Amino acid sequence: MIALTSLCVYCGSSTGTDPAHRAAAERLGRLMAEHGVRLVFGGGRVGLMGVLADAVLAAGGQVTGIIPGHIEEREIGHQQVTELLIVDNMHERKHKMFELADAFAVLPGGLGTLDETFEIITWRQLGLHDKPIVLIDSTGYWKPLEDLLEHVITGDFANGSVRRLYQFVDSVDEVFDVLAKAPPPATPAQDELI
Ligand code: AMP
Repeated sequence: MIALTSLCVYCGSSTGTDPAHRAAAERLGRLMAEHGVRLVFGGGRVGLMGVLADAVLAAGGQVTGIIPGHIEEREIGHQQVTELLIVDNMHERKHKMFELADAFAVLPGGLGTLDETFEIITWRQLGLHDKPIVLIDSTGYWKPLEDLLEHVITGDFANGSVRRLYQFVDSVDEVFDVLAKAPPPATPAQDELI
């Protein structure tokens, strides 16, 4: 069981077409506040990122946003968050989000979300961390991603053991159960994972 005090959530700077995505972000935000788990996120107030941060704050929770100065204007830095850290570039942002989180969750999103998701999975594959990663697919949006990962495994470009690096759940409510059951971080044997 991990000590979960902060959860980094990757999600879109858009809301997508399906209103269920927004509902999922709202529910996750509310549950995080109820569990006393701080949100660590990209710091924008647009898209699902904004919906999620607003939901945590509305339910009385804590939010840390991390945003590079050069995109603060584009993603419109969320000024109501508990803490907004301005960093120099995307690499620093992603590293800071990684450092401040006990675990990671992924909601629907675009290319930025995919980049962040693959980075955090591959860092775990390389043994750079052993924090749990939960991909939330309450809306079916990430089914093609799950299929792609299986395709990579069956094509023998990744060992089947990579499946334990991430976990798909089909409802937001499952996130905290999965994280509560996650074993405490241990450094995985590298040859088993790569
Ligand atoms: P998106 O899923 O494309 O809406 O982006 C979600 C978040 O990822 C936003 O905060 C983007 O600024 C961020 N992002 C976009 N591109 C990248 C990238 N290449 N590396 C890291 N983060 C990114």
